[in-house]
Amino acid sequence: QVRVRFAPSPTGNLHVGGARTALFNYLFARSKGGKFVLRIEDTDLERSTRQSEEAMLNDLTWLGLDWDEGPGVGGEFGPYRQSERNSLYKQYADQLLNSGYVYRCFCSNEELEQMKERAKQMQLPPVYTGKWATASQEEVQEELEKGTPYTYRFRVPKEGNLKIDDLIRGEVRWNLDTLGDFVILRSNGQPVYNFCVTVDDATMRISHVIRAEEHLPNTLRQALIYKALGFSMPTFAHVSLILAPDRSKLSKRHGATSVGQFREMGYLPQAMVNYLALLGWGDGTENEFFTIDNLVEKFSISRVNKGGAIFDSTKLKWMNGQHLRALPSDKLINIFGSRWKSTGILLESEGTFVKEVTELLKDGIDLVPDCDTALSNLLSYPLHSTLASAEGKTVVEDKLADVAASLISAYESGELLEALEEGHTGWQKWVKSFGKSLKRKGKSLFMPLRVLLTGKLHGPDMGSSIILIHKAGKCGILGPQAS
Ligand code: GLU
Repeated sequence: QVRVRFAPSPTGNLHVGGARTALFNYLFARSKGGKFVLRIEDTDLERSTRQSEEAMLNDLTWLGLDWDEGPGVGGEFGPYRQSERNSLYKQYADQLLNSGYVYRCFCSNEELEQMKERAKQMQLPPVYTGKWATASQEEVQEELEKGTPYTYRFRVPKEGNLKIDDLIRGEVRWNLDTLGDFVILRSNGQPVYNFCVTVDDATMRISHVIRAEEHLPNTLRQALIYKALGFSMPTFAHVSLILAPDRSKLSKRHGATSVGQFREMGYLPQAMVNYLALLGWGDGTENEFFTIDNLVEKFSISRVNKGGAIFDSTKLKWMNGQHLRALPSDKLINIFGSRWKSTGILLESEGTFVKEVTELLKDGIDLVPDCDTALSNLLSYPLHSTLASAEGKTVVEDKLADVAASLISAYESGELLEALEEGHTGWQKWVKSFGKSLKRKGKSLFMPLRVLLTGKLHGPDMGSSIILIHKAGKCGILGPQAS
């Protein structure tokens, strides 16, 4: 059975990189009818916090990546927090000690430092060259009796190599001669990270380890531990880094990078999921719009790219617009309406005006909070006040003068408002005769009209805009924040 895991360290926020790793694991599990396990890697007691863990779980839930086993859900291979699994690590560490894969190392920190220094001077790899790899029973016994602190050190073969067949990177091979014996249990009894991960992945029966490329060096140590413990190795898939547009490693200085920040900015989870999936994966067609169900259906690890993926926030925003407009229209009306009411632009969150204005503006809105500016912009040149005011009469450039003069008189005579009362039919009829009287049509009629009526050169459909501006002024729906 396919069993995969996402194993965050709760030392901060869930970043887009972590979220993508979680997503790929989730999609792999769901597409194979397997299990998606969540494990909290809180061995770094100083940096791990429960607060961060909770925030990460929240973010995963918000993205819709529900886990089958893990915190809050349980499961038969728990506990799912490393800090609660210490006795298990100790048990396996002792097993390795007894079978000779591990030895007790009584070297002091100073001795280890000197070793490193010497290696550096001789330009040799900084591998352990102390005596404890080959010490006798008696020597060990003597130190134990003295109570000298010791670590458990893993005995690495001094030559040969090791390879894995990575599902994304193909064959990865390491020479063992430069690795050196490494510690798996510290002198205070704390197991080290690579050891915990191996014991966990093995005992949680993880079949595929899908994780970030930066863990590749850990894989070598973990592979040696699997072998020594007699566990069969999972299949590995190391996903490339997410890069900033300048191809450097994506970091805070490039703007928002955590899932929580995007949520607060108004991004939809389905757009985040869609965009994250495209960071290194595609279904081989031009299509870029996927729901999570589509992704489960189409995802395959063999289509995940080896190269780094560029995080393009402009594209993410565009994608959010695609998902926003794919929502059922009553849902979208509700989202915009509630937003307009809560920001005080409108007094009501529903009704015909909200519906019509949503329809008019939605194409230009990629992010929910942008609906404020869109509506304010629309309302910022209200026909009544502008055309009736002295400034309204002077904003006009010379070449628009004939249009402006006629428009003002059409407004003042009530003819324009009357037409607007009749909605689209009234407007169209009026525009036609208005154009005729000025001997203007097409662009030479509509451009000046648009500028005069909306104050802008471009915008959504002019007739609908002006009818809605007129309606807004009349129906008493404008809130205190409407400009
Ligand atoms: N805890 C590690 C991290 O947050 C992941 C380790 C793994 O996936 O093996 O980067």
